[in-house]
Amino acid sequence: MDGKLKFEEDKLKGKVIVVSQKEEIFAENYIWNCKNKVVYGPILSRRLGKSLGINLFPSDFNICTFDCIYCDCGPTKRNTVNTYNFASMEKIKDELEHSFEHHSQNRTPIDYITFAGNGEPTYYPFFPEIVNFVLELRDKYFPQKPLAIFSNGTMISKQEVIESIEKLDERIFKLDAGDERTFKLISRPNNNVSFEEIVDRLANLKGIKISSAVLCSGIRNLGSLKNCGYIEALKKIEPHEVHLYSIDYPPAYRGIRRARVSKMLELGQYITSNMDIAVKVLRARKAWR
Ligand code: SF4
Repeated sequence: MDGKLKFEEDKLKGKVIVVSQKEEIFAENYIWNCKNKVVYGPILSRRLGKSLGINLFPSDFNICTFDCIYCDCGPTKRNTVNTYNFASMEKIKDELEHSFEHHSQNRTPIDYITFAGNGEPTYYPFFPEIVNFVLELRDKYFPQKPLAIFSNGTMISKQEVIESIEKLDERIFKLDAGDERTFKLISRPNNNVSFEEIVDRLANLKGIKISSAVLCSGIRNLGSLKNCGYIEALKKIEPHEVHLYSIDYPPAYRGIRRARVSKMLELGQYITSNMDIAVKVLRARKAWR
């Protein structure tokens, strides 16, 4: 991390900041409307600004190692995770090259290039090769633009996945619980991974950010997050930052409601009263589909 960025991050430590997105959202660019595209966007990300998304999965259904109750890509079909016929690496590379060239020629303004899409990016079988290829494309078409990933952390038991993730500039991992029961209730992992294992895996990575969805009525996790188990997990992981957000789009399952900003602020203050870390509360936007 360069010195200026580190200085900026240090200044925010111990603070809770509300992040609002005031610019207009172009719904047609979002993943729900671009599921057949490998490259979609740029979208307006509350965390990353103008983010050009990379989706390694097809549109049929969500391909993920989790089945989060609030997922904006719909329910995960559990019986497909080990059997799905993924798009070939050649096909993905072709589409990436074509889209990057297009956006470069059109001088599309972007702030980040981001692995996030219709499932867990690291679950794509050739994820390490694709990361290397995207780094080459970035250097060719968008030099200096940083790369980011949103991940649930389940695949970081694999050394080649860890090495690939370490090549990315901004690594944001989900942690939606502070205990095993709530982890199973909200994230619904489709393998036997436990809350403790996920925390241990995240603790092996340096310089990551943690992103926690907050649900405080219906099916909820607020009690689990505002608890010593979550704080202990954060202390073990030592992230640079914690992001708190709630849903502002139709979730995969019923019984989920958006948490108010005031509830997320209370949670943020609980976190900063227990550890010296920056917490960003991402204000919800309007529903757009
Ligand atoms: S980890 Fe992400 S993509 Fe997977 S089910 Fe959860 S929210 Fe959806």
